[in-house]
Amino acid sequence: MKQKLIAGNWKMNGSIEANDALVRAVVAGLAESRCLAAVCVPAPYLAQVQVLRHGSRLELGAQDLSAHEQGAYTGEVSAAMLKEFGVRYVIVGHSERRQYHGETDDLVAEKARIALAHGITPIVCLGETMAEREAGQTEAVVKRQLAAVIHTNGHCISEIAVAYEPVWAIGTGKTATPEQAQQVHAVLRAQLHAATPQSDRVHILYGGSMNAANARSLLSQPDIDGGLIGGASLKSADFLQIISAAS
Ligand code: PGA
Repeated sequence: MKQKLIAGNWKMNGSIEANDALVRAVVAGLAESRCLAAVCVPAPYLAQVQVLRHGSRLELGAQDLSAHEQGAYTGEVSAAMLKEFGVRYVIVGHSERRQYHGETDDLVAEKARIALAHGITPIVCLGETMAEREAGQTEAVVKRQLAAVIHTNGHCISEIAVAYEPVWAIGTGKTATPEQAQQVHAVLRAQLHAATPQSDRVHILYGGSMNAANARSLLSQPDIDGGLIGGASLKSADFLQIISAAS
């Protein structure tokens, strides 16, 4: 059995003071857990959290990276910069970036490629909107999103992580049922396996209103290898309960 991975996505939240208390509490609570754990923090806080997590099992993650190596790209953060701060994971293609920043499947695939080239595990996010689900397009949408990443990354695909995040479940308190999530995870698992059997080791996380109350039933599904946690990762008690459900 694969060790589960629980990754927090702080989004645009935090402050030097709040981060300090949150990370200290998570690091302390993590000692008793057996799963993999990470926090994906806003770029300005990478240095702070790198120091706070030092010597612990809590891994550091970022929320985005540039598709370019370096140069005249004002406002962007490169993979090499993330690497300097000990970043282990980077979220790519979060639905908020697809929606508010027009990120396409191809751009997301390129970001995953650049992360992998720098030894950072991209957590590739994909998922359908409510309109797409109601139109019966869920499978087609997630397969199209994953196909772009497979196409660009070839055999390296076994080095990524995937997060299935139905857009309608993000930050809404509406969680996919364990059965709904498992159904999509099984589709993604089969698609990855067809690309290369080695990708059976890929963590496929569920994200979308996962919390202390529903984590255990979601994580007990055969193809749910962890969670990408937004709101509930901002409270150490909630985040630690999810980590404990995954241990
Ligand atoms: P949520 O966010 O847990 O607050 O729904 C998850 C995510 O967007 O990664």
